[in-house]
Amino acid sequence: MPDETRQKKVAKTARRPETLAAQGLGWLCGDTSAVTPPIHPATSYARDDAYEKRAGRGYTRDDNPTYDQVECLLRDLEGGADAMVFASGMAAATAVFQALGPGDHVVAPQVMYFGLRNWLEQVGRHWGLGVTFVPPGDVDAIAAAVRPGATKLVWLETPCNPTWAVTDVAAAAAVAHDAGAILGVDSTAATPVLTRPIELGADVVMHSATKYLNGHSDVLAGALVTATKDATWERLRYLRFEGGAMLGPFEAWLLLRGMRTLYLRVRRQSESALTIARRFERHPKIVEVLYPGLESHPGHAVAAAQMTVGFGGMLSLRVTGGSAGALATIKALKVFVRATSLGGVESLVEHRATVEGPESPVPDDLLRLSIGLEAPEDLIADIEQALDNA
Ligand SMILES: *Cc1c(COP(=O)(O)O)cnc(C)c1O
Repeated sequence: MPDETRQKKVAKTARRPETLAAQGLGWLCGDTSAVTPPIHPATSYARDDAYEKRAGRGYTRDDNPTYDQVECLLRDLEGGADAMVFASGMAAATAVFQALGPGDHVVAPQVMYFGLRNWLEQVGRHWGLGVTFVPPGDVDAIAAAVRPGATKLVWLETPCNPTWAVTDVAAAAAVAHDAGAILGVDSTAATPVLTRPIELGADVVMHSATKYLNGHSDVLAGALVTATKDATWERLRYLRFEGGAMLGPFEAWLLLRGMRTLYLRVRRQSESALTIARRFERHPKIVEVLYPGLESHPGHAVAAAQMTVGFGGMLSLRVTGGSAGALATIKALKVFVRATSLGGVESLVEHRATVEGPESPVPDDLLRLSIGLEAPEDLIADIEQALDNA
């Protein structure tokens, strides 16, 4: 296939990830030499008169040509063996758990992406998975929780929503592998710009591509990247296909377009987040700034060793006055948009305790900030006036 030929040609020359992303791997459209790819909306592909698939393709639930470039780009940015896009981050993450069988045991963080924690409680346990939740960032707790032979998957998220606890991926991989389990990492907040979990020993990397990878708050998408093309990976491909968790071709195209500016966006968002974190660390109305780039953060040493370029665009502020203080502050913000999600070009703020409800382990004085591409001075001024007026 022409795409594969192009792929091999590009793979021979070692270019830096920024270059690969900016050029979308440098692929040209085979038919027109267009520098951006076409979108393939077709659901079905013709067979020849010998009834063979003319282009090796049959039906779009199996695969779609619009995925090729974005999947190869993500594979290369993560240093993996293969990548697959999914209809959402949740579709990608839950496929990893669905690849396990009833009676299998998994270890996952107590505080993690809220939807996935709920899914593990509501569906994972029902499906027969044994789940042990451990404090995020604590590799000793993972080591105490794994049951050699029974534990098939150790799952972690680093930095972890919304306290931004950092886990030592290499240490967690060693613990998982010793127990005979694989390590899956939700790397949504880190992106391949800041952390490459496969190089640190992870077996599967998951992204909510809705967030930083796409980066413009206009696509719902997910992705998995594998360290090896093994039986688990084939199972994941089967689950995507028969489970129908396929990404729309237009969304795949938008995702590639978003990823071409990934390095620029994440670098700037990390710089602004660090500036903001430092600025409010000692503010009288701030109880605590949670950001892995601050020396006061419990995960700082691991983050400094494991993360490159910066510490990410996500931070949380714990404000004085408890829940009421947090809600008064969020009300007074004018530049930050009060909305869920993260990783877009516009800055968002969220009171997670309200969103997650009474069962939430998130402190009720916590405001989660997703730092966008605005002038950092405007964001700082906005937080300052909100704290003054709250
Ligand atoms: C948003 C998010 C998810 C879920 O992804 P969707 O694309 O919304 O399905 C999973 N993990 C993290 C860390 C997220 O931020």
